[in-house]
Amino acid sequence: MRFIDHHIVGHSGGAGSGRDASAGNARLGDVYDPNTGKVQASVTLGTQADLDRAIAAAQAAQPAWAATNPQRRARVMFRFKELVEANMDELAHTLSSEHGKVIADSKGDIQRGLEVIEFCCGIPHVLKGEYTQGAGPGIDVYSMRQPLGIGAGITPFNFPAMIPLWMSGVAIATGNAFILKPSERDPSVPVRLAELFREAGLPEGILQVVHGDKEMVDAILDHPAISAVSFVGSSDIAHYVYRRGVEAGKRVQAMGGAKNHGIVMPDADLDQVVADLSGAAFGSAGERCMALPVVVPVGEQTADRLREKLIPAIQALRVGVSTDAEAHYGPVVNAAHKQRVENWIQTGVDEGAELVVDGRGFTLQGHEDGFFVGPTLFDRVTTDMSAYKEEIFGPVLQIVRAATFEEAVRLPSEHQYGNGVAIFTRNGHAAREFAARVNVGMVGINVPIPVPVAYHTFGGWKRSAFGDTNQHGMEGVKFWTKVKTVTQRWPDGFGMSGGELPRGSE
Ligand code: NAD
Repeated sequence: MRFIDHHIVGHSGGAGSGRDASAGNARLGDVYDPNTGKVQASVTLGTQADLDRAIAAAQAAQPAWAATNPQRRARVMFRFKELVEANMDELAHTLSSEHGKVIADSKGDIQRGLEVIEFCCGIPHVLKGEYTQGAGPGIDVYSMRQPLGIGAGITPFNFPAMIPLWMSGVAIATGNAFILKPSERDPSVPVRLAELFREAGLPEGILQVVHGDKEMVDAILDHPAISAVSFVGSSDIAHYVYRRGVEAGKRVQAMGGAKNHGIVMPDADLDQVVADLSGAAFGSAGERCMALPVVVPVGEQTADRLREKLIPAIQALRVGVSTDAEAHYGPVVNAAHKQRVENWIQTGVDEGAELVVDGRGFTLQGHEDGFFVGPTLFDRVTTDMSAYKEEIFGPVLQIVRAATFEEAVRLPSEHQYGNGVAIFTRNGHAAREFAARVNVGMVGINVPIPVPVAYHTFGGWKRSAFGDTNQHGMEGVKFWTKVKTVTQRWPDGFGMSGGELPRGSE
């Protein structure tokens, strides 16, 4: 059985190598191949002692890294980007085999993370501080951004490359040491990325990976040597991480779940909307925090026309193994999640929504034990249903009919989550009004998945994010650094106005 160990200094570490899994009393977690339903590897579930070792190595390495000039730090980013590109196929296959998303989506996961690394290649420029000459008589003021020291990241299963790179790229480029605790469900790619960073010239101890579950998360949240924690995952845990981390005096940003709405105005191009929804609601089996699982047609006619076009499009979706180049999407991540998604479908039925396409009980020939869920469509979903209020995180699309534009703005605005939202229309005024008024953090106008590019910044509102800084872009730089402001006055002690120059300076 392949064994996935921590990537920390002093460990032989790495995916597939390292210590014997049977040595010691380490707790182990199962890593599945969701295509077959079989366990393909064991991951060590770490303890406080593992974290302490990583912290000691980080403390030893971080001062020199912070003192390394930013251009040299950026050069590591350039080399890392080249190495990831050279290893793209291998990384995408590993990612796909543990997560279940198809190869094209796996490459997208890695590519979106690399775009943050590209942003970090410009870190010398963004770290330049502010300066005011003559803020008072003979007084200048300047500011600098300094690293926090040691930061940690706790990441979800659904983007095992992109989200670790959102955090680690900016944290490292700004001069911190970074400890990553990836999801224990698909931990191999994060380890491989840390190995490639090392190969790119990153000093030992600056990026380490510790595996684990709640025990390791709690150890991170309580450790006094960690100054900041970035978390992405489900909302209840995000809130818990936020509270506990802040209580321990840390800087915390904690991104949570989502239930994104797509508003379809009567003038929208419905064929384009259906094509967009096929990708945005069902791609990656709906396991994306920027998926579009709720569609809100405005007016009964729009709803009926949309539904008519959606049904055949959904029935034509090909569900397959994650290496099937023709497949639209692959399995969900594990058996428990498959069960959870199917339970939500039943809840929707029990609550009175109309089940138009039922994806339960889907099996793929030759892969009967894989964690597949067929595409599912509900109509006449209403706001009092728990299946509407909660995140399902599966290939399930819900139609919520709105009578007016005002009602369509209100639905996502009043939902507990506020990650992303989209509007489909040809009317610029409606789109502009919607973008200005909707109570959600990221808005798409005829763009179904409005994930901002790396040099902008990612973050939702309400229960989709706790804390007040976003991921990557300048917000990321702000999160991983602290500002020092110097107010200086240099009295005329050097004889510039006729006095003596100090001895030795002639
Ligand atoms: P999760 O909350 O189960 O796990 C996230 C991390 O928390 C993992 O590293 C896990 O080991 C750890 N964890 C799990 N249980 C814990 C506990 N009881 N105490 C402390 N730590 C614990 O999330 P997931 O299922 O891996 O990921 C899917 C969720 O992440 C969805 O809700 C999705 O919307 C959300 N997500 C949000 C964003 C965003 O940017 N807002 C992005 C991606 C995913």
